[in-house]
Amino acid sequence: MSIVAIVGRPNVGKSTLFNRLIQRREAIVDSVSGVTRDRHYGKTDWNGKEFSIIDTGGYVKGSDDVFEEQIDKQVELAIDEADAIIFMVDVEAGVTGMDEDVANLLRRQNKPVFLVVNKVDNAMREENAVEFYSLGLGDYYTIAGISGSGTGDLLDALVEVLPDKPEVEENILPRFAVVGRPNAGKSSFINALIGQDRYIVTDVAGTTRDAIDTKYNRFGFEFNLV
Ligand code: GDP
Ligand code: MG
Repeated sequence: MSIVAIVGRPNVGKSTLFNRLIQRREAIVDSVSGVTRDRHYGKTDWNGKEFSIIDTGGYVKGSDDVFEEQIDKQVELAIDEADAIIFMVDVEAGVTGMDEDVANLLRRQNKPVFLVVNKVDNAMREENAVEFYSLGLGDYYTIAGISGSGTGDLLDALVEVLPDKPEVEENILPRFAVVGRPNAGKSSFINALIGQDRYIVTDVAGTTRDAIDTKYNRFGFEFNLV
């Protein structure tokens, strides 16, 4: 199945769009910056085409945030595995230095990028969105993730570029769950198994707030790690 990743700095509305697409409140949506530190996977479809969607943590550069470096890696991981990337920015805040950094990263790779200007709740904001041409990524889509306005046009264009991938029977894959109290080392253990920094591991208790499914292919076997 094709994979679409939503990237962008914290608080632009990535999780709001993600939740709308998967139609359940899976990712944590919060007005506090940087709440979604990890990646969340969901499944959705549009015009009969199914795809996986990844909600990534924010990208915090030049801050003293303990998560800075790890979040950075999350974006690069998304660039690696996604077939298309939604790069979300926020018309309320305008163009920020962090947006420019992400834009620089995205211009240096070949995956299709959809620049999405979020929080366009009214006509005035539609006009303000033109400043995002300065990111050098060409045309953009204006949406309001909160109401869903504009998301239809975005999805029409998005599924156009997604490759047709053969269906895999994902529900027949075995699922393994790693459980334990916060800070016991669950995420580090999974990282050691997968060999990727997919989970953010810090010594702040409760970093990984939600259960995360990871499709795992090692040693010739496919399964899901939860
Ligand atoms: P993330 O950090 O990028 O995942 O952002 P969130 O999805 O957590 O949203 C951050 C804040 O922006 C929340 O308070 C949302 O309610 C708000 N938000 C999201 N979409 C919209 C929108 O279309 N319009 C407005 N006005 N606010 C929005
Ligand atoms: Mg989020």
